[in-house]
Amino acid sequence: MKKSTVDILGINFLSTTNHEFIEQLKKDSLHHQNRFVVTANPEIVLAARKDKEYQKTIKQADYVIADGIGIIIGGSILKTPLPERVTGYDTLISLLNFANKYSKKIFLVGAKPEVISQVQVNIKNDFPNIKIVGAYDGYFKDDHHITSAIASSQPDFVFAALGFPKQEYFIAKNKNLAPAIWMGVGGSFDVLAGMSKRAPVFWQKHHIEWLYRLIQEPSRIGRMMALPKYLLLVYRKKFFKR
Ligand code: UDP
Repeated sequence: MKKSTVDILGINFLSTTNHEFIEQLKKDSLHHQNRFVVTANPEIVLAARKDKEYQKTIKQADYVIADGIGIIIGGSILKTPLPERVTGYDTLISLLNFANKYSKKIFLVGAKPEVISQVQVNIKNDFPNIKIVGAYDGYFKDDHHITSAIASSQPDFVFAALGFPKQEYFIAKNKNLAPAIWMGVGGSFDVLAGMSKRAPVFWQKHHIEWLYRLIQEPSRIGRMMALPKYLLLVYRKKFFKR
């Protein structure tokens, strides 16, 4: 695929729609391509600016998708608009549907022990043809048992719900163990398990999903302060080109 990307503060975002992106991943999977997907929001953009090692890790990704309205706004301000927001959670659900259709093997790593147990139950119920070839919680000290399980089970998809930057470091370090689609999915397992609720469609449509999450989890306020800081940097880039 000829990749068209948009540079936002040093991160190259794939210029794609949800539909195009899913079609691309399906094609990649059917051809047993090895792919590293990063779903990035303003917080991740700022973290990568601060930490060169993290930036290098994100640059290894095949696809960085715009998972956050802040990225879409940044693209418009810089006059390099991106078509639409492509969320990690929606991408995950589409890939689970695809994996179910083709009886693909998936490997899950991340979230708390009770969450990962419930995720397995829910996936088995909703996507009965999927083969879950590994499921580990994300609170490990040493990942050796997990990586050897990935190497021996050769999954088609590895979903890492470890939060950033842990999930990107995990994928970058291990992605050569299997020709799979490797994707960091943040808090998606908590939603899949029914432990945290995704914003209803109204909030999503009006681009205030972040506000819904903040009301659910007020302790996220510190993390959300990344957004105004990010917008300041976008405006600095626009007006002062640096
Ligand atoms: N997590 C994990 N291991 C860790 C730290 C976090 O498995 O060492 C999990 C955590 O339980 C949660 C997810 O990673 O399920 C991160 O969720 P968060 O809401 O921070 O992600 P976001 O969607 O905001 O990127």
